[in-house]
Amino acid sequence: MSKTLFQKICDREIPGTIVYEDDQVVAFRDINPAAPTHVLIVPRKPIARIGEAAPEDQAVLGHLLLKAAEVARQLGLHGGYRLVFNNGPDAGEAVPHLHCHILGGRRLAWPPG
Ligand code: AMP
Repeated sequence: MSKTLFQKICDREIPGTIVYEDDQVVAFRDINPAAPTHVLIVPRKPIARIGEAAPEDQAVLGHLLLKAAEVARQLGLHGGYRLVFNNGPDAGEAVPHLHCHILGGRRLAWPPG
């Protein structure tokens, strides 16, 4: 199977600004930021989207959330931040490799558009 766009960033086959990585997840800056700080954190495993995660993915998903919080702290988002998973076309999902948006650095409106 061919690699997803985000696998290629994780494997440094295409450019990306990686801010954190370990054996399970990689965090890199979004190419089209929607906030002053906009980072995507992805599992190295190419799970398509949260709705297709399996019970065996529980550990990596928990790890991803804990690391998202750690990355947010490291990036200085002490005033708050938002974690977003877009799942499917109605949510505007564009890249079929599960990713958590870490957004911060400005007041974020609620509810989202
Ligand atoms: P989503 O709509 O949740 O699927 O979000 C996909 C995100 O990936 C968007 O915010 C894009 O700006 C971002 N994106 C697309 N291509 C790249 C890339 N090559 N490097 C970094 N971020 C990207």
